[in-house]
Amino acid sequence: MTFLPETRVCPRCGERSRIITCGDSDGTIVSACCEAVIPDLNDSPTVLIEDGKLVCPFGDCGAADQVIELDVATRENRLSIDEEGTIVAHLGDSEFEGDGFECQQCARSVSMPGGDEIVHV
Ligand SMILES: [Zn+2]
Ligand SMILES: [Zn+2]
Repeated sequence: MTFLPETRVCPRCGERSRIITCGDSDGTIVSACCEAVIPDLNDSPTVLIEDGKLVCPFGDCGAADQVIELDVATRENRLSIDEEGTIVAHLGDSEFEGDGFECQQCARSVSMPGGDEIVHV
């Protein structure tokens, strides 16, 4: 945790507060008073998990279960030529590539705890 020389208005309590980086791997910048994420100083802060819900990390939003995955399905279909000379595309190696995550409530990008590893069901 590092104290930064700037102060900001805390989005949670509205007081002017010192800002700190919290100890996560992203170095998310939060208010020292409430540890609320300062929206304009962070690109994609990590989603919080509270009571089994995914909670928007932005201090002035905090919506629960509003996180969506922006998904881009990419497919690599290998081409080959079969015995009859027909060009064949091999389907099946499809791969879903997440394009990031976003809070639907405030439309800002967020990231997932644990290196964006989620299970698609
Ligand atoms: Zn505060
Ligand atoms: Zn939000």
